[in-house]
Amino acid sequence: MIASTPYLRLRRTVVALTVACALTLTAGAQTKITAPSNRYSVADDVKLGREAAAEVGKELPLLNDPAVEDYVETIGRTLTAAIPQEFRHPEFRYTFDVINQKEINAFALPGGPMFLNRGMIEAASSEGEVAGVMAHEISHVALRHGTAQATKGQKYQIGSVLGQIAGAIIGGTAGSIISQGTQFGLGAAFLKYGREYESQADILGAQILARAGYDPREMANMFKTIEGEGGGRGPEWLSSHPNPGNRYAAINREAESLRVQGRASTGQFDATKARLRGMSPAYTAEQIAKGQAKGNPRSGGNTSARTSVAVEPPSSQYRSSTPFSFLRVNLPSNWEEVSGDETGTTYAPYGGYRENDGRLEGVTHGFQVGIAGRSSGNLQQDTDQLVAAFAQSNPQLRRQGGYSRESVGGRTGVRATLTNQSDITGQPEMIALATTRLGDGRLLYMVGVAPQRDANTYNDVFRRVFQSVQLRDQ
Ligand SMILES: [Zn+2]
Repeated sequence: MIASTPYLRLRRTVVALTVACALTLTAGAQTKITAPSNRYSVADDVKLGREAAAEVGKELPLLNDPAVEDYVETIGRTLTAAIPQEFRHPEFRYTFDVINQKEINAFALPGGPMFLNRGMIEAASSEGEVAGVMAHEISHVALRHGTAQATKGQKYQIGSVLGQIAGAIIGGTAGSIISQGTQFGLGAAFLKYGREYESQADILGAQILARAGYDPREMANMFKTIEGEGGGRGPEWLSSHPNPGNRYAAINREAESLRVQGRASTGQFDATKARLRGMSPAYTAEQIAKGQAKGNPRSGGNTSARTSVAVEPPSSQYRSSTPFSFLRVNLPSNWEEVSGDETGTTYAPYGGYRENDGRLEGVTHGFQVGIAGRSSGNLQQDTDQLVAAFAQSNPQLRRQGGYSRESVGGRTGVRATLTNQSDITGQPEMIALATTRLGDGRLLYMVGVAPQRDANTYNDVFRRVFQSVQLRDQ
């Protein structure tokens, strides 16, 4: 028996409490910030960040221009020196790298590695704006928001969730690259920080800026620039750092209670921008995903010989599973849960998945259910975006035919069939996709994967699985 929607309500309560405790506003004084509760150790943050940073270095084209790197590094050092004492962790090591990518984005990993897209610097109109984004990212690291977010998860298991957490933290292209190898490589690309963490990073970021000698209002200006660049679809940075509401007003109000200490500007902003203008254009996310970024070819599928294990065919017996408290689904009884956390669960038969060091690397036969970001209200459009996000870490992914409207769990749903090349076997695979909207507006997706040559067998399995879905979140 499934209890009625305790999951979502509990979560909302937690969020509300955190906001109340975290932002205690004292008149005329700067806001006092309390880092959220965290079950992970500081050493976990360091380990997590180091592993994810190694992936980023392998998969994304670093600019590797000493002058630009020095410039960013100088700003970064000034900012990290201004982190308030209570949020300093001696184990953390802040590093600053520039990715030769056009889209406006920046992200920081637990323990300190930060990556700034070239497009972010190019879009900024002052050094203070660059520093503003960096101070915001540094604040997420110092407050240990990545692992705090993971702490909210129901299943506490560091080994198997490393990639998912990293993906959750940074979102977008880089997020899907890092989470590649977990949950079909699709995992947590859609996850993002919640409003309370965004508010905290804005406020602490403003305090760090002022202490470092930058005007915090420049951070608000940069966020405006980023939103302005959004056009039809918001830039990546916004998808992982959603506006908590009244972002500019809140930053500017905080700025009024702060005194900018000195003047930090290096005076090198214009020269750095000119230097970037003189280079060949930055790569687009699409070029990077297709492996066209020079010097950093994507691995593009593991073709190394592996001992193959016979995959158990799907049992004709089905049993009920509840990957979320509000969702019940019937799966072949020999499919086990091979990975899971609050964002989704993956099921596969023996031999149908690959693990490395206790961490799920990928699935050749199986089923995944997960929750993507907030839905726009247009289910087909959201599904399109989901498929595009999947494609970022699966360059061979194609949609076969159009979308069909079919009921999922008794409500309007969208189904599609995709084809891909398996990262694990190098062979063509088929992917059955179904999506629908949850009561709280988020997008629920379900994905079945199997080798193309077994499509007949598995199409029947996935149809039966999709038809068994029961939703109780409303
Ligand atoms: Zn943020």
